[in-house]
Amino acid sequence: MPIDATKPYDDQNIFAKILRGEIPSQRVYEDEWAVAFHDINAQSPIHILVIPRGPYVSWDDFSAKGSDAEIAGFIRAVGKIARDAGLVVPGYRLLANTGRQSGQEVPHFHVHILAGQPLGPMLA
Ligand code: C5P
Repeated sequence: MPIDATKPYDDQNIFAKILRGEIPSQRVYEDEWAVAFHDINAQSPIHILVIPRGPYVSWDDFSAKGSDAEIAGFIRAVGKIARDAGLVVPGYRLLANTGRQSGQEVPHFHVHILAGQPLGPMLA
């Protein structure tokens, strides 16, 4: 069920548990600001989720309340993950669902990195 992007952060959400290592994930990257892992229901041959370490419900929450260091560190991590995976030449898509009409399901801000095939129209 899509989430309300304005609700308070719930530290029992599934990505909070992944961050704390309470449930497994296939991690591909981590640093001071971000953790990345393979999406369990990949929508393209490469589908990586990148999450900040801080407790932000959505893009809206993160962009409004994240510190400059968190935001810069997170954005640099997303770029590095894509670069290190060799995605710059073939290309990739970043996507951050925010709130109900976007279909956001997990109430911890995350960016999807989608790649590995022609991705088609934006709203497909
Ligand atoms: O943007 P949205 O909130 O819809 O995306 C959540 C994503 O988290 C989905 O692509 C889903 O497959 C993924 N997921 C995951 N591991 C979980 C739960 C959800 O990779 N344990």
